[in-house]
Amino acid sequence: MKILILGAGVIGVTSAYYLAKDGHDVTVIDANELPAMGCSYGNGCQLSFCHIEPWANKSFIINILKNIFFCKSSISINNVASKKFLCWLYYFFINSISTNAIRNSKNLYKISSYSRELFLKIIAEENIDFNFNNKGILHFFRSDNELQKAISFYKNIGISHEFEILNRDQTLEKEPSLSQIEVKSSLAGALFFKNDYSGNCKLFTRNLANICQNKYKVKFIYNSKINNIFTNKKKITGINTESGVLYADNYVYALGYNGLDLLKGINVIPKISAIKGYSISSDIANINNCPKIAICDTKNRIVYSRIDNIYRIAGFAEINNNNANIDLGKIKLIKNIAQNSFQNIGKINEKSKWAGLRPVSFNSLPIIKCEKKYGNLYINTGHGSLGWTLSLASGMILNFLIANKLPERFAFLKKNKY
Ligand SMILES: Cc1cc2nc3c(=O)[nH]c(=O)nc-3n(C[C@H](O)[C@H](O)[C@H](O)COP(=O)(O)OP(=O)(O)OC[C@H]3O[C@@H](n4cnc5c(N)ncnc54)[C@H](O)[C@@H]3O)c2cc1C
Repeated sequence: MKILILGAGVIGVTSAYYLAKDGHDVTVIDANELPAMGCSYGNGCQLSFCHIEPWANKSFIINILKNIFFCKSSISINNVASKKFLCWLYYFFINSISTNAIRNSKNLYKISSYSRELFLKIIAEENIDFNFNNKGILHFFRSDNELQKAISFYKNIGISHEFEILNRDQTLEKEPSLSQIEVKSSLAGALFFKNDYSGNCKLFTRNLANICQNKYKVKFIYNSKINNIFTNKKKITGINTESGVLYADNYVYALGYNGLDLLKGINVIPKISAIKGYSISSDIANINNCPKIAICDTKNRIVYSRIDNIYRIAGFAEINNNNANIDLGKIKLIKNIAQNSFQNIGKINEKSKWAGLRPVSFNSLPIIKCEKKYGNLYINTGHGSLGWTLSLASGMILNFLIANKLPERFAFLKKNKY
């Protein structure tokens, strides 16, 4: 079958990989000159298979309300009056109710744990280089209350086997540089997820694209913006691009947040909001006492990862901000938080600064489904803060859907309305 994938981010490329491996004739098109130039470019680089608490949950809502009036906060909300956003927010609130949030987390874990299996498999089979680090991720907490809340959340989901609980001393033994926190506030302890990983998402996407092209004969068309989608009201009849009109049997939407207007043009309107985040990349050589393991500061929504000779600090949540400009005030704030969290980290030089728009569905579950209005259009987006983590499972699940062989354990995705 001839399949055209719209978008060469991590979701488009993983989709291409499984479809081409299954024998389809696959082409990927992107507006940029290389894969992973969108949200997959400068993210936190963590494969956090267990970080499955959805954005829509009670404590995040409380956090939004607490922080909304402070401009110096890691969470902010923009353009509240937009009708489209209010609609998304309504469903977001409904999904924040505990029973819904727990159901969504359990479903996310079904996808993320499958993705972990696929990561281990692809590493073994394809010899793909992406600065893979399998030393685990440490989630640290400043108060015992926060730590206990996290433990009971993970117990509720049924994944207590995934982490070790560390007290203050054990946390400092694992990551001595965290001792700085005690100068400014306190350190209660941590959860250590030994089977979560980190690596370079951009490198992973680009090297996987090379494997797709060289080994599985996927065609890539770059520098070709998609202008609109043609339909005859029953199915997609072509994609109008800067390289002309392209035709296929099936079409896969993997354009993240920025392509949603193309769907709107054919009256498909997924309820997805942009949650903007930032990252700073620094030379490890210039950082004193650089933390050794991948870290998550849940309170500030910041993650820290070593990727080869680069230290990546990423996070923040600007809800409904769909402009990817870099706000230097936010970059400064991230640096301050990092400097207050790590002992003598010193000057963080900004080798590069970046901002990206996470495509976030109202329940934090990715939208992987066939669009009923047009039987030959498949959607693969809405992965929020877990796009790379969920990418391999998302590509494989898309392949199952196209083959009409979706395993029962993922049937909830078919019912996932948008
Ligand atoms: C600060 C931050 C930190 C994050 N940290 C992590 C993390 O640690 N772990 C994790 O798993 N996830 C993380 N994420 C989330 C993750 O980066 C995203 O979920 C993921 O990259 C989304 O991938 P995608 O392929 O859907 O979108 P993109 O990577 O944005 O790909 C979409 C592609 O579509 C192309 N495109 C768009 N419009 C058009 C058009 N009209 N014509 C042609 N091409 C077009 C773009 O060029 C782009 O290449 C983070 C995100 C942010 C912002």
